[in-house]
Order: sequence, then structure tokens, then C-alpha cells
Amino acid sequence: MNTSTLWLLLVLFVAIAAGFFLGRLENRRRRRVRRKGGLNYGLSSQPDHAIDALMSNRDTDPDTVDTHLAMGRLFRKRGEVDRATRIHQRMLDNGALPENVREDVELELARDFLAAGLLDRAEHVLLHMVDVGSHHSQLAMRHLMSLYEQERDWHSALAIGERLLPRDSTVAPILAHYCCELADSLRGNDELNPRRRLLRRALTFDPGSARASLLKGRLELAAGNHASALRAFLRLRNGREYLELVLDDIQACLDALDRQDEMFDLLLDASLDQPSGAVLSRLIQQLKERGGQQEASQFLGQYLKRYPSLHGLSEMAALEQTDSLDILRTLNARLANDTPRYQCTQCGYKARKLHWQCPGCKSWSTLRTPPTAT
Ligand SMILES: [Zn+2]
Repeated sequence: MNTSTLWLLLVLFVAIAAGFFLGRLENRRRRRVRRKGGLNYGLSSQPDHAIDALMSNRDTDPDTVDTHLAMGRLFRKRGEVDRATRIHQRMLDNGALPENVREDVELELARDFLAAGLLDRAEHVLLHMVDVGSHHSQLAMRHLMSLYEQERDWHSALAIGERLLPRDSTVAPILAHYCCELADSLRGNDELNPRRRLLRRALTFDPGSARASLLKGRLELAAGNHASALRAFLRLRNGREYLELVLDDIQACLDALDRQDEMFDLLLDASLDQPSGAVLSRLIQQLKERGGQQEASQFLGQYLKRYPSLHGLSEMAALEQTDSLDILRTLNARLANDTPRYQCTQCGYKARKLHWQCPGCKSWSTLRTPPTAT
């Protein structure tokens, strides 16, 4: 054995010994921490004992209350809703809690029930909070609104939302959606007037409600009131994702009213205002019918300089009928097929069809056509 091997063995021995002693030190430290009790006490292994030990005192000291609230939130966040509920219920059992703290705990308990999907119980707690005028009653009403949304109980959602409205005007557009949901659920000719009333109410809450205008337009179109339908549809001309939905309806109204000429101006205005594939296609079609292919090509060439888009290029391909552009046209069609048309501005959820309420984050009217999807 030469010297360098000996040295190597020595170094190895020291390393192993150091590891061994450090490990024992760490174990002893851990035992000390456990004996001292506190929040570290078996939280992972026996959490229920931990909670019971922690909650056995009927402490109303603000620090302790905050710790309990923080623990409850932590458990709920980790999906251990049972334990969160247990903490909050035991806190409420403590008769000596100050009123504002009791109201904080009630809100947390309601959130536990919501997280567990126990909607009846959540509703019970939240309604109680609203009734007694809790300092969280505004939040409670918001929670109730989303609870009723989940249950698709639009009458209750509307009723609670109307109570919240004087204190929080930002809910007005949501209330308009509730009215639209109710109007949408009514069918048949006997329901025409109740539906009209609901849509009027929606527009009172939110005069810019695209959905109310769309439903109103479709209702009047089906009832044969073309002028009234057209007025409603034209209110949608400022939102391209909505205008695209009613181009056929507008055409039907104009045909019935013998005002076909107005379509061209409408399309021209809309296409210069905000690029939209559907509007552009129709406009090119009309240009071709009126001034022939050359005029259509000329317009499209200018248009593409201002609003370059694959869809526009593909329209050009159809007009010019060149082979190379035709490949582009096929590619664009395939791309359009694969690309979701709508995207939520809040959470990024992508969808092929327009949802009024985002299926991802449950926000209302946030699904839009991304600027690239023209
Ligand atoms: Zn969303």
C-alpha cells in the first residue's frame, strides 16, 4: 500500500465518521424540537392529534386566532378540507371569540364547504352572513352568486346580485348575463313577452350587453319583426367576435326589408374598423359581384397592406387563382381548422365555440377572438 492510497483511505474514513456524527446531531435536534411541541408537532404524521392538541385551549389571543386561521387556509389549500373545516368549526364553538373574528371564521368555513362541493352548507353559512350584516357580507354575496351559477339557479343568482348591486356596480354586466340565461331558458311563442322583458332588463343592467342584443335580434327575427331585429343586431357591430355571429341574420333582415344595399357599407365599415376574416370574405364576395374581380383584387391588395393576415392572403389566392397561392389557401384552411377561434382574456382558456362564461375561470364575456385569428 503506497502513501497516496493510505491518505485516500484516511480521508474516506473521516468523511464517513463526520457524516455519522452529523446525522446523530440532527436526530437529537429533531427530538428536541418535537418535545418542545409547537406547530411542528407531527403535522405530517398525525395531524388530527395535532389539531386537537392545538385547539384544546379556548384561546382568544389574536396571535393564536391568526395561527388557527392560517392553518385552516393551509389545509384547505392542500386539499385537506376536512381538517380545515374541523379547525373552523372548533373555533366557532369558542363562545368568547370577538364578533369580527367570528365573522372571519364564518367566511373561511363557507370557503371550506365550497371547496368540498358542499353547496347546501356553504349556502346556509353565506346566507346567514348576509342576513346578520357580517362585515364580509359583500364577499358572501359574491360567493353566493358563483354558488348559484354552479347550480344554474339564475333566479337566486339574480336576486342576490341585485342586493349587491348598490354596493358594487361592477356586477351589473353579470346580472345582465343572468337575465339572458333566464330568457334563453324560455322557449315557444307564449313566452315571447316574458323573454322580451328579461332582455330589456338585461339591457338596463348593461346597455352594452352583446348577448342581450343577440338574443333580442334572434327573437324578433323569428317573430318576423325585421326592423326591430336589425336594430338589435346592429348594436353588435363594434365587437367583431359578435358581429361575425350575426352576419347571416343581418343579411336576412336586410333581404326582408328590401335594403340589401346597406350590407356593403356595413361590411366595408366593419372591415376597416377591425380585421375579421368572416367580414372580409363577405366583402370580397360583394366587391366581386359589383365591380368584378379586378376591383376586388385591388381592394384586397390595399387591405392586406394595412391588415396583413393569412386569411386575407388566402382570399387573394382564391381571387387570383394562382397555383402557388392555392397551396397557401389549403394550408390556411387546415390551420384555421386546428386553431381555436376564441380565447379567454383572463385565463387564456381556448375554445372553438363562443362561451358567454369562460369554462376555465368562470369569468363572463371574456372569450374573445385573438388578434392573430383573422
Ligand atoms: Zn377564463
